[in-house]
Amino acid sequence: RIASLMAREQGWLAEHMLILGVRSPEGEKRYVAAAFPSSCGKTNFAMLIPPAGLENWQVTTIGDDIAWIKPASDGTFHAINPEAGYFGVAPGTSYQSNPNAMETLRANVIFTNVALTDDNDVWWEGMTKTPPAHLIDWRGNSWTPGLGRPAAHPNARFTVSATQCPSLDPEWDNPSGVPLSALVFGARRSDTVPLVTEARTWEEGVYKAATMGSETTAAASGKVGEVRRDPFAMLPFCGYHMGDYFQHWLEMGRAVTHPPRIFSVNWFRKDAEGRFVWPGFGQNMRVLKWIVERCAGQAGAAETSLGLVPEYDHLDWSGLDFAASRFSDLMGVDATQWERELSSHNTLFDRLGEKRPDKLLHERDRLAGRIAM
Ligand code: GDP
Ligand code: MN
Repeated sequence: RIASLMAREQGWLAEHMLILGVRSPEGEKRYVAAAFPSSCGKTNFAMLIPPAGLENWQVTTIGDDIAWIKPASDGTFHAINPEAGYFGVAPGTSYQSNPNAMETLRANVIFTNVALTDDNDVWWEGMTKTPPAHLIDWRGNSWTPGLGRPAAHPNARFTVSATQCPSLDPEWDNPSGVPLSALVFGARRSDTVPLVTEARTWEEGVYKAATMGSETTAAASGKVGEVRRDPFAMLPFCGYHMGDYFQHWLEMGRAVTHPPRIFSVNWFRKDAEGRFVWPGFGQNMRVLKWIVERCAGQAGAAETSLGLVPEYDHLDWSGLDFAASRFSDLMGVDATQWERELSSHNTLFDRLGEKRPDKLLHERDRLAGRIAM
């Protein structure tokens, strides 16, 4: 919170963002920062391993939680990770979902609220398919499978030095930071928000980030599964008035000659049966590839009411059998859902009172006009 305040006073940004590097098969390296609310996939995305079919791409990790972003003399924003390590959610972390995190956790780790195995190792839900036959649960009680309660707390965490991460980027500790090509904003939405969209302008991107909403998880207090507005994923971390924060972001777009492009993503759309439509994790590389290729002026896009989007053939599907009809399910823009969404944006802006920036109200009106068409 204090960093966010200092950043505004001094003309930079202190953000709840991971930073990663993407190296193309041709050896071109680009850096991307991404803001997802807690428990929405920052650590996984920061340590992404490209899937079969895209093995000649490489993702490297600068940081998985915080980015300090400053205008640099080369006309781009440079970002540093101010942290020394990772403080991640344990449940769901496995060799299947995040092998780099598991390798990082091999030794020298502080765990909180995980379960203890009979041979003094750790375990949490999702680490292995079959749970151990006996554990001490996070409360210190004896635990066996089938008790109907989790052995680890859903928000059980690990703390570990960044230097143990196999995908650590050589520049991760460079005080000059790395130049950002793209900013990505994502949250957990079972409907409404498409897999990926690109903002046409800085202002449209700031609007997307400002109005981001996420379905609540165990990491936040309150009811699980409710959509809560979490502007820039900064709700718990913004140290001053959110209206002034939005204004600061709008102004930062003019602080450099080459601002990064802004994208919105959603890995969490569900079908009628409540299953995730998008396989996520390493497969997110397909979206990341499109993002960096957009920045390089290489990938195509189509225009929709929400911005620029990939058509099925604009994504690289090599190594994955993913039907065009499922892709349409992920990209669909439902007018009824978006009317509800816009009315929720209005509630957010109403709460800002006099401090809501006019530029964002204009963006909202333009969006409302396009949705209604
Ligand atoms: P962080 O708190 O933002 O760093 O989020 P994590 O990377 O620790 O992930 C939080 C939860 O989201 C974990 O249970 C992950 O398994 C899950 N998750 C991460 N990425 C994806 C994804 O691409 N798809 C799906 N369905 N779940 C994901
Ligand atoms: Mn994390």
